[in-house]
This record gives sequence, C-alpha cells and structure tokens, in this order.
Amino acid sequence: MLIVMKPEATTDQIDAVIARIEGVGATAHPIFGERLTVIGAIGDTDVEQHIADLELEGQPGVDEVKPVMKPYKLASRVEHREASVFEIGGAKIGGEHFALMAGPCTVESREQLLETADVVLAAGANMLRGGAYKPRTSPYSFQGLGTEGLRLLAEAKEITGLPIVTELMDARDLEAVLEVADVIQVGARNMQNYGLLTELGRAGRPVLLKRGLAGTLEEFVMAAEYILKEGNEAVMLCERGIRTFETAYRFTLDLMAVPVLKQMTHLPVVVDPSHAAGRRDLVESLSLAAAAAGADGIIVEVHPNPEEAICDGPQALRASDFPAYARKVEQVATIAGKAPFLREAAGTA
Ligand code: PEP
Ligand code: MN
Repeated sequence: MLIVMKPEATTDQIDAVIARIEGVGATAHPIFGERLTVIGAIGDTDVEQHIADLELEGQPGVDEVKPVMKPYKLASRVEHREASVFEIGGAKIGGEHFALMAGPCTVESREQLLETADVVLAAGANMLRGGAYKPRTSPYSFQGLGTEGLRLLAEAKEITGLPIVTELMDARDLEAVLEVADVIQVGARNMQNYGLLTELGRAGRPVLLKRGLAGTLEEFVMAAEYILKEGNEAVMLCERGIRTFETAYRFTLDLMAVPVLKQMTHLPVVVDPSHAAGRRDLVESLSLAAAAAGADGIIVEVHPNPEEAICDGPQALRASDFPAYARKVEQVATIAGKAPFLREAAGTA
C-alpha cells in the first residue's frame, strides 16, 4: 500500500499515519520528497487488507491511499501464473481446452430435454445445459420444473453421458442440485449473493459464475474470490452481457472482458452469447467473436422448436442449425489457439 501525504502534511500527521500502519503489523517506509511524503506500507497480503480497512483517506494530512496488491488474491495471476484447467465429467476447460456447453434455457419436458440432449451429443458438444430453477424477471412467469427438472437432467445425463450445467438460485436446493450438476451455474442476478457463493465454495463442485448485469470486472472477480476462499478452486467466469445505454439488443456483450479477465485471473472465461443478444440472429457471430477473443468456452441455448419454448425461445438456436454452428465455433477457436474440442464420438451431425 502507498499512502501519499498532502504537501502541507505536518510531521505529527506523518507520524500518526506511520503509527497506525505499524499498529496492524505492517512496516512503514516513509520517503521524504522535496514537496511531499509518500509512505510505503509493506506486509503480507492480509496486512494490505488491514491497512485498507483503516480507511486512512480520512486521516489528517493524507491525500491518497493506493493499493499495490490486487484485492483478489486467489483469483489473480500473481501467485498462480498458469491458466487453470478443470476436468469436468471428461470435458476439459482452460488453457488450450475449450468447452462448448449447450441446451435449452429451461427443462420443459422429458421429450424436449432428451431431444435437445441428443442433438447436443451428436454435434459433439461437451456439456448439456438446462435450468430447473429459473431466475425470471416476473414472479408470475414459469419458474422452472424444480426437482422434476433435476430428475429429467439426471436421465439425460445417464443416456448421453454429457456433464450437466444447471443453475442454483437458493442454497436450500443445494443438496438436490448436487445430485445431478457437474457444474453449478450462478445466474447474473446472484453474482453478489455472497451467502450463496460461500455455500458453493464449501460444496466443492465446479461453478459457472455469471457476471452481474452491472458488475464491474473487479466486482466480478471479487465474487469469484468468495468461492475460491472456501477452498473450491473450480470457478469459471461467464460474460453474458451487461446493461449499457444501448437498446437495440438485450444487453451489450462485453468481449473486451475476455482478454482482460484472462490477464486479471487464471480462471477459465466462458461467454454466453444467447442472453446477451436476446435474438437468435446475433448468436452465431457473437460466438465466433468470443472464440476469436480467446474465450475458453461458450454456453449457448438450443431448442428443438424455439417457437414453442417456455422461455428464451427468440434467442435459442434451432437444434437443426446447431451441428454446423458447433463446427464453426471449433474452427475459430482453433485459430485462436485451442485444441479441437468437438467430441469424436459425435455422430454424422
Ligand atoms: C440462463 O442461463 O438461463 C440465465 C437466466 O442467465 P443469466 O443469469 O445470465 O440471465
Ligand atoms: Mn435463458
């Protein structure tokens, strides 16, 4: 931490700041310049936080307090230089590994889920997504099939062997979700639900953490830190579009977040083009752009009959278009340095 004193700061004020720094176990290194004094406060990373908690900005004579360490200790690349790679039910993500996760927004029926799962499997995608608990803007909208949806996901997993990505909204459903989920999704609206994040940190299952609608990248990474701090290292960050002044599409997909998050952290970065766009016609180009930007994975909505979807139909890729889409994403991802990822077991799709 660097504490910059005001040019008019008195010796007593400088000494008072030094005393407070030393009071939390840090060592103070004052540098007396001609015009002002800067105090370097050195200690381990916890000490840095303790100094931040002193809120020295309000102290007499203090001009500015500048952290030199990142507040996200576990997510940052400082002590973990290599990109994290996770193996999830046979699929790998991170480093040179790309994962394509696809499926319906929500589990609607046995027929709908199994039909979609077949298409996702045949196209060679790596994981099946589907929500049993849905965060809907209106409390009067369909809220998901709940435990029945989880049961259907378990059946789809048994038939296809695909790992399952599904959302948890309420920690009271954790046990039930753990029965089937290979990856637990935290929706955008829960990015800063710290109680839920802490529970997921303890649960130890891989987490796909979506960026909040108005979350800055630092807030996003700090949210991941809540999960990592409990000992769960398998966190994937998902950019899914943020609120901006633009109204021509549902959200603004922040693709700059991809390379920047990869500089800030060692965690895999996934992109969700479906919820950003809100419209099917944009999904493929956003996916290719995400792959080109270096994303480690894509999570995309697919439906056998989008016109009849209970939710997010307008943005769902048609199942019949999915195989060609998957191949294009693979082509671009390989140009961006990823290994081919579509499973060889893929059928004629
Ligand atoms: C979803 O994945 O279906 C979803 C609701 O996503 P988000 O939380 O990003 O809106
Ligand atoms: Mn959806």
